[in-house]
Formats: sequence, C-alpha cells, structure tokens
Amino acid sequence: MKAALVGVDTASPDGAPVLLHEARRPTGRERGPDAVVETVLGFAAELRALGAARYGAPAAAAGVAVPGIVDERAGRAVYAANLGWRDVPLRALLSERLGGVPVALGHDVRTGGLAEGRIGAGRDADRFLFVPLGTGIAGAIGIGGRIEAGAHGGAGEIGHIVVRPDGPECGCGRRGCLEAVASAAAVGRDWAAVCGDPLAGAADAAKAVASGDERARAVWQRAVDALADGLVTALTLLDPQMLIIGGGLAEAGDTLFTPLREAVRRRLTFQRLPSIVPAALGDAAGCLGAGLLARDLLSTEVTA
Ligand SMILES: [Zn+2]
Repeated sequence: MKAALVGVDTASPDGAPVLLHEARRPTGRERGPDAVVETVLGFAAELRALGAARYGAPAAAAGVAVPGIVDERAGRAVYAANLGWRDVPLRALLSERLGGVPVALGHDVRTGGLAEGRIGAGRDADRFLFVPLGTGIAGAIGIGGRIEAGAHGGAGEIGHIVVRPDGPECGCGRRGCLEAVASAAAVGRDWAAVCGDPLAGAADAAKAVASGDERARAVWQRAVDALADGLVTALTLLDPQMLIIGGGLAEAGDTLFTPLREAVRRRLTFQRLPSIVPAALGDAAGCLGAGLLARDLLSTEVTA
C-alpha cells in the first residue's frame, strides 16, 4: 500500500494538493483480513505522528482509498476479495485511531479518477471516463467535478462488460468480460502463450509490437478491438468529452493509443468521438485523490 502526507499549495488559486512525504509498505494480507486493517491504521497513525513532528501540527483530515466494493457514504469497505474484507467500517476505525479527525473513505479507482479529473488529464473536462488497464480493468465516471459511485458503490465497473461471450473465464464468474480479454494481465497471458516465454508480460508484448512482430501485433489488435468494444458501450451510455486511459497497458504510449483511437472511431455512428488521452498522474493518482477527499471534508466543515 501507498501513503502520503499531503499539503495544499497555497500559491495555486484552487489549492492544489502537494505530496510532502510518500511511503509504501506491504499489506500483510498473508496474515489475514484483520491484519490488513491493522496495517492501514498503524501506517496512518505513523504518518500522522511524522507530520506532527515535521510540520508542528498533525494532519487535519485523512483520506483512504481501498479496492473492491466501497460504500463511501457509509464509510464501509463492503467487499474486497484480494484482502479478504467483508463489511469493514474503515472510516470509523481510522478516525478513532487518528484522534477523531475527519476521515473520508473512497474506492481506489474512483479516487484515482477524482485526482485525474481535478488536477490531472481531465482538468478541463467536466464529463470523462477514467479507465486504468492493469491486472484488472475498472472505471471512474467523472461528472461535474465528482465521481459517480452508483447506488451500491459499484458504478464504473467497465471491466465486467462482456465483450466476447465465448471468451476466457473472468474472476467474477462470467466469460469474456473486458478485463479477461484486454487487461494488462490478459495481454501478458496471451503473449506468453504465443511467444513461449511464460514470464512474458504486457510490456514485452508492447515491445514486440513496436519492433514489428506479427504474432505480437495479432495479440495486441485482439485486445485493442475488445477494448474499443467496451469503451464504445461506455461512451454510448455516458457521452463523455474525454476517455482517460491509465494503468500498465497505457505505458505502451502510441503503440496503444494510435490503434485504440482508430478502433473506437471506426465503431461510432451517431456518437461523438471523445478525446482519448493517457492518464497524467500515474502511480500518485490514488494518494493525491485520497488527499483531495480529505481536503474536501475540511472545506465542507469551513463552509458549514
Ligand atoms: Zn468479469
């Protein structure tokens, strides 16, 4: 997990968040779900102490972003398969550990999307879709400065739109979901099977594509076509100004973006083509977004 102390740039008109201190540590998930909760709480408490020692006052609020299904309004981590969490009241636990400061709980991808929308690639777009292509595929729907969470905390799960009904099995139990066909993990798996190197990943596939390998191009184009099918479904529903693509696969740059723009464009009839751009904040999006969630709590308090 990643954590940061976040300050506010007082010279910027909208008080942009600034990472003051960053740290990482393992979740400790091999010791079970409760140990992960304890790691989160302990990590946050240490950072708070560090901030107090270094800046003379502790952080005034905290934001935390977690994977899985998250009920932001209730402050509960409803379900996270990879952490073994079921209905963890993380917001209350964290506030208690941090001496009662206000705490915001967010979903990891929606929180990253919030940062991309406010201070990253989507700064000038008030309707966008942020889609990180990593081990899985998720999405954050940006609308007028906020991210749509849905009625049950499940909005934006574009990775589980079925794009190839006979495709590979997905972790969710269905077949042919977008993430089973076009995530960085799926592209890596497909390229490893074709090139014969079991350790090959999506980055190796991208390199082989760039060097003109025809087998790699076939693997890559299959993923791009599936991705375009999924994105066109989303943009038909949402009509965004901008599609912001992040995650490991986006690191391929033009090797991804050039054929992806073309594949999306070819599929449109009446829909308007949004700009399709790389994410700007990379790895820092989650921490910056959690900082924004925390800062929003403080500005709400001031105006209230
Ligand atoms: Zn699925």
